[in-house]
Amino acid sequence: MSAEAALPLTNDYDVDALRADFPILSETVRGKPLCFLDNGASAQKPQAVIDAVRYSYEHCYANVHRGAYDFSERTTAAYEAAREKTRAFLNASSEREIIFTGNATGAINLVAYSFGRGLMKAGDEVIISDMEHHSNIVPWQILRDELGIVLTIAPISDDGAFLIDEFEKLLSPKTKLVAITHVSNVLGTVTPAKRIVDAAHAVGAKVMFDGSQAVMHMAVDVQALDCDFYVFTGHKLYGPSGIGVLYGKEAVLDMMPPFMGGGDMIAQVTYAKTTWAELPAKFEAGTPPMVQAIGLGAAIDYVSSIGLDRIAAHERDLLSYAMQRLSAVKGLNFIGTAPDKTAVVSFTMDGAHPHDVATIIDQEGVAIRAGHHCAEPLMVRMGVGGTARASMGLYNTRAEIDTLGNALEKVNAIFG
Ligand SMILES: *Cc1c(COP(=O)(O)O)cnc(C)c1O
Repeated sequence: MSAEAALPLTNDYDVDALRADFPILSETVRGKPLCFLDNGASAQKPQAVIDAVRYSYEHCYANVHRGAYDFSERTTAAYEAAREKTRAFLNASSEREIIFTGNATGAINLVAYSFGRGLMKAGDEVIISDMEHHSNIVPWQILRDELGIVLTIAPISDDGAFLIDEFEKLLSPKTKLVAITHVSNVLGTVTPAKRIVDAAHAVGAKVMFDGSQAVMHMAVDVQALDCDFYVFTGHKLYGPSGIGVLYGKEAVLDMMPPFMGGGDMIAQVTYAKTTWAELPAKFEAGTPPMVQAIGLGAAIDYVSSIGLDRIAAHERDLLSYAMQRLSAVKGLNFIGTAPDKTAVVSFTMDGAHPHDVATIIDQEGVAIRAGHHCAEPLMVRMGVGGTARASMGLYNTRAEIDTLGNALEKVNAIFG
């Protein structure tokens, strides 16, 4: 290792220069600088993403794959280049394994409808965890009620850690799919993904990770994980809304029937019989989110040019600073303190409802989310009606954590 590579990663992390890449960060709210700490709900977009979307509409726009004319080839090439960028980003082995959807919810539903209805039967079991987003609960509930599958919930500890030993006890030959979040959107908990895969594969189950809160915080390698499916959503990775990704192992996707029928997903159609297109087109019925995919490709280029390891180091610093600063706020209780977690801080405050907390600090220009965060069963598990959540991204600063801390002290001045 060179002396340079041994330096702490945050040394040359120029957060001010990165902030300048995001035009929206110079907005003001109620006369105060925007302090945006709701990245877990959706992240802001760098100029490179905005430019890629704009360039596409101005210079490179027609429907993909269908053009008899040369100009439509430009859009097709840009769309397929975005698929290759996504493949490289996840280190998938083939572009056939990358399916574009509308969002993470669309990707999870694709798995539930196609893998679930196509390859599962009554009595088969799906295991999720006690800290899933509603979009990784409800599709399996619908499947349970329609098909008679068994839905089992893997427990978590009081501090929000995934209990791998308890999970392993739930596995049996009836387990067909394990569908678990890679990072909790509420607690920031990182689940032990590789151990989950190894244990599930030992009983013959497939594994899907919901990586919606993971891919912006850490490098993900689906081949190293050996998972069967990996899902994420573009808008939380600094990309546009309207684009999601389903990675699936080619052999597994090949076994699965189509989810939606329509244009682009067919080889040949007659009234008697239709044959399916090859992967990935088999799962991309209809005009795909072309420009959104191109924007996602630009977002992937952007985070890759910074380096996810450097982003992770910066966010680790923000997290430890936030835990320290917010510990000093009277009556603040952290919800979710697992040892392995990303820069997401959920909390409650004595005597103040989370919505009141968010509303009061909004007066100071601070944007956080309050409520159940699309994870109502997790609220029940943690014994709270809701939480306030500050979720950090690559452009947040220690100064913004101070702004949050000071604003929360004003909450205490009102309620305390
Ligand atoms: C945001 C989120 C989703 C859903 O993403 P959409 O873009 O709304 O489909 C799913 N899972 C987790 C963990 C999330 O944070």
